[in-house]
Amino acid sequence: MTLKQSLREARAIFERHHISDSRLVSELLLRHALGISRVQLYQELHRELGPGEEADFGRLIERCLSGEPVAYITGHREFYGLDFYVDANVLVPRPETELLVERALALARERPIATIADIGTGSGAVAVSLALGLPQTRIYATDVSAPALRVARFNCRKHGVEDRVCLLRGDLLSPLPEPVDLIVANLPYVGEEEVSRRGLAGFEPALALNGGGDGLEKIRELCSGLGEGLCPGGTLLLEVGMGQSRTVAGLLHSLFPEAGIEITPDLSGIERVVGLTPGLTPVCPDARLFS
Ligand code: GLN
Repeated sequence: MTLKQSLREARAIFERHHISDSRLVSELLLRHALGISRVQLYQELHRELGPGEEADFGRLIERCLSGEPVAYITGHREFYGLDFYVDANVLVPRPETELLVERALALARERPIATIADIGTGSGAVAVSLALGLPQTRIYATDVSAPALRVARFNCRKHGVEDRVCLLRGDLLSPLPEPVDLIVANLPYVGEEEVSRRGLAGFEPALALNGGGDGLEKIRELCSGLGEGLCPGGTLLLEVGMGQSRTVAGLLHSLFPEAGIEITPDLSGIERVVGLTPGLTPVCPDARLFS
């Protein structure tokens, strides 16, 4: 069978199993099985697969059908235009989390930001993207999970920012040595029931997803300790799940009645990032309620 035929066959299998992006997934897995680049794949489309190669590709297809994220199988995930190493110790970076990076970079254009903390850094995708976008900034990246921090360390080295991203192990703000100008956090926010319903816990670390009962346990904990972690006039940017933005905005408003709160929707229109800062201009009309 040629590479082209095996791609077509894999695509048909994925379609039968309702796996989305079947074409892309087939290509990523075949490239991974053969250890070749995208260009090589297209150059070699008409060559025959060796029996070993065919078996390797088959095994990767099986893993994918069992629900294992493609990013864990290949060890790669693109985030903010950068390639990150990922494995089962960290959440697979999601496209919507790029909004957190965008908001942070936009903020840094408006006001001086010397220090940032990325709380619950996981793969380090957010911290590394910010480090590359803000070369003058010192970044702390914390996580409770030592294996996750190893992944983050790998990614910091891969992108040459290990000198400016200080990785710290510990819960929420506890490992921070000093208050910072900006805190960004994509904490676990999926409600317990949904975690088990989705069956995600089997592949992605529950620690990175499970935010307790209503999903907001970790976010509440972070917000109540915020006074210690932020410099006066500092900013918080939090990623939240669908339907959680108003609850989180309300919580922040009750804790910091004087502060401005903004809510930014992602590309699907889901209110994804909640921001808190004394001088923030609300971007979502309803968010004025809280400013
Ligand atoms: N957005 C992720 C999901 O829905 C959850 C990320 C998180 O809990 N921080 O799977």
